[in-house]
Amino acid sequence: MGSTERIKNVARRVAKWHDAGYQIVVVPSAMSGETNRLLGLANELMAQPDPRELDMLASTGEQVSVALLSIALHAIGKQAVSYAGWQVAIKTDSAYTKARIQSIDDAKVRRDLDAGKIVIITGFQGVDDVGNIATLGRGGSDTSAVAVAVAMKAQECLIYTDVDGVYTTDPRVVSEARRLKTVTFEEMLEMASLGSKVLQIRSVEFAGNYKMPTRVLSSLTDPMIPLEVEAASGTLISFEEDTNMEQAAITGIAFNRDEAKITVLGVPDRPGIAYQILGPIADANVEVDMIIQNQSVDGKTDFTFTVPRGEFAKSMDVLRGVKEHIGAASIVGDAKVSKVSVVGVGMRSHVGIASTMFRTLSEEGINIKMISTSEIKISVLIDEKYMELAVRALHKVFDLEKEV
Ligand code: ASP
Ligand code: MG
Repeated sequence: MGSTERIKNVARRVAKWHDAGYQIVVVPSAMSGETNRLLGLANELMAQPDPRELDMLASTGEQVSVALLSIALHAIGKQAVSYAGWQVAIKTDSAYTKARIQSIDDAKVRRDLDAGKIVIITGFQGVDDVGNIATLGRGGSDTSAVAVAVAMKAQECLIYTDVDGVYTTDPRVVSEARRLKTVTFEEMLEMASLGSKVLQIRSVEFAGNYKMPTRVLSSLTDPMIPLEVEAASGTLISFEEDTNMEQAAITGIAFNRDEAKITVLGVPDRPGIAYQILGPIADANVEVDMIIQNQSVDGKTDFTFTVPRGEFAKSMDVLRGVKEHIGAASIVGDAKVSKVSVVGVGMRSHVGIASTMFRTLSEEGINIKMISTSEIKISVLIDEKYMELAVRALHKVFDLEKEV
């Protein structure tokens, strides 16, 4: 919601659903740019403001939105009522700026809905045990919306955003990338690098845990497009059991450009060695992704893992500090690597996905540095300079540009 003009459009869209007989709870985010503006003000005063105060501040963005939307609905003759999270109440823990929702009281909202009102609740925030406002982290209104949908036992959670759905890959890399009509929760989580640009990933976890069908759709369409058209637009994030159509082998190609690889060479092959290497890395708050340990030769082995590129220098420092203690011969790294993954629940029922992937990469002359797999994903680590080539080649070989 960028302006009162846009808020009027949201109101008309909400009224359209309500007129069709649906009970509606709306969970708006702040007006665009507002959360950044507010946090910027705090940073003008202090480098590291107190998180509790930041939440007090940032939560106001959504409070403005709910009130304006309610007023816009009144202006077109609709009954509506707005609430801040604490009024509902949406209970959270006390991890300010990254709180988690613990419970939502549905009583008040249900009463309003039954009285024919449209209920509007602030996204992004709740209240902790001691009465402080706590926010859910950037993009958290997605998670608020899913959580409210779960609490209200909604038929579906519709998330209106500035993209029109989830794509087979990033359209900026592959122009033939296609919008997916459906994607499963698991695929969405595995495609976090694509999906997180669309939704806060925690909202997808939430939807998955509580089996809440969640649709990502465009907020930029004409608010008065026919309801049936709107209801079938975007991408539905659903459950595998629900998608009874013929599965394609692969659903999407995800990638992460900014990876780095670290190898600890010549470490003694004995119990505890992985812990001695990765323990200090974890203590430095670095998230490790792919890990391999080689076959040992003469009681020595090599141990390789990847970290986000931004954490590469820090990780190398940490390891140099423990090198003697581990008894490693040397530590080498490569900060110009990227990860490319093919993702799809169809992998469970199709064979030969890995070999098709590896053949395609070899035909392009791309060397694979590391491989990791899960039940519905195969990832490879390659030179950064081949990343886009790899994504395009894989998108093509798995026919992702074609409608299934
Ligand atoms: N307004 C918050 C943010 O900008 C929450 C959200 O938009 O989802 O991060
Ligand atoms: Mg958002």
